[in-house]
Amino acid sequence: MPDRTSLQPAVFLDRDDTLIDTTAVTRGSGHEGDLGDPELVRLLPGVAESLARLADAGYRLVVFSSQGGVARGRYPLAALEAVNDRLRVLLHAAGVRLDAVYACPFHPGGSVPRFTAEHPWRKPAPGMILAAAAELGLDLSRSWAIGDKPRDIESAIAAGIAHERAILLEKPVDLPDAVARILAARLET
Ligand SMILES: [Mg+2]
Repeated sequence: MPDRTSLQPAVFLDRDDTLIDTTAVTRGSGHEGDLGDPELVRLLPGVAESLARLADAGYRLVVFSSQGGVARGRYPLAALEAVNDRLRVLLHAAGVRLDAVYACPFHPGGSVPRFTAEHPWRKPAPGMILAAAAELGLDLSRSWAIGDKPRDIESAIAAGIAHERAILLEKPVDLPDAVARILAARLET
């Protein structure tokens, strides 16, 4: 374990409808929101630029994503990984490197036996954030989280991230607005 003084702050980022447009590209598929096709990965407006600003400000960038669609048999684990790879490629092309991508393929109501279970990584449980903190040496007291669903926020708070540092995207607040808030708060301290 790194010593405490070397711990880094991070921004934990939900993936679907936070970084990439998942609902719109899967509309009409019969399984709206379940994205297993890397060809359909689209960054939402301003995402790459905003993540670059966070990285420049010294934040590690960690994606944390529940992907119960794997347990439900909507797409295989390899497709989940292909979508995450495409996300990395699109961001890398814009000069942004993700420090880690955590995803949880489990769901208690699934149909694929291997992944049909509750799991400590599945939001709103805090497992992905706690694993990232241990593996990457992150300081959760200086970290933030951004997501579009209450369970993203609940997961962050359960992991020990302060309530006011867990930002729920609600229209018209989008990811660039949330990032502006993080950077403004940093200048105040
Ligand atoms: Mg989401």
